[in-house]
Amino acid sequence: MDRRNFLKRLSVFFSALFVSGAILKRKLFVGFFSKEAEAAVNAVTNEKLYLRPPGALAEKDFLSTCINCHRCAQACPSDCIKYINDPLNPVLHDTPYIEPREKACILCMKCTQVCPSGSLQPIEDDEGETILENVKMGMAVVDTNICNSYNGYSCGVCIRACPFTEVALKTETWERPIVTDHCVGCGLCEQSCIHYPQAIRVVPIRG
Ligand code: SF4
Ligand code: SF4
Ligand code: SF4
Repeated sequence: MDRRNFLKRLSVFFSALFVSGAILKRKLFVGFFSKEAEAAVNAVTNEKLYLRPPGALAEKDFLSTCINCHRCAQACPSDCIKYINDPLNPVLHDTPYIEPREKACILCMKCTQVCPSGSLQPIEDDEGETILENVKMGMAVVDTNICNSYNGYSCGVCIRACPFTEVALKTETWERPIVTDHCVGCGLCEQSCIHYPQAIRVVPIRG
């Protein structure tokens, strides 16, 4: 066998290994050992909440279906999708999440359109109604004890960063931010907050 053929076979072997691994993980968590798998998923979902990309299924279903292919991050133009690094926890390990203080989601919906497993449900990017209706990654919460606008200094930076100003994030006197039920949890307000630690942060929603 010449060198080129050998390398080709090697690459086919590793691709097959990757796909079987992904399928096996899915089977483990949704198929063959459903009771044990459910217990494992339940144990994990009782721990820390992660902010998942838009369109994510409810946490339990998300963990059961994500095949860790990394396509969502590859499609993300803002480079905001990270992967949990916890090899001792195979359910959580290598699943995508967003840390908005570092980099928030710009709501382009590209990750939702490439996910092959349905863990992220496809959402159209119409920069408005569809996103407001279908995206619920989390909910922003203001800490009025430290927010500048609630403490004698008109700020409003988060309000200007919100893609849905006056719909998801309203302005009160002194540019005090008021979060409404329309918040989609993108985290752009948290990323932009000039206070350290941040005075507005997104709490992930577990479906
Ligand atoms: S919607 Fe766009 S910016 Fe947000 S996580 Fe998905 S790909 Fe990244
Ligand atoms: S594209 Fe879908 S299946 Fe692949 S890692 Fe992202 S969420 Fe998981
Ligand atoms: S309030 Fe924050 S998290 Fe909610 S939509 Fe506006 S910028 Fe995004």
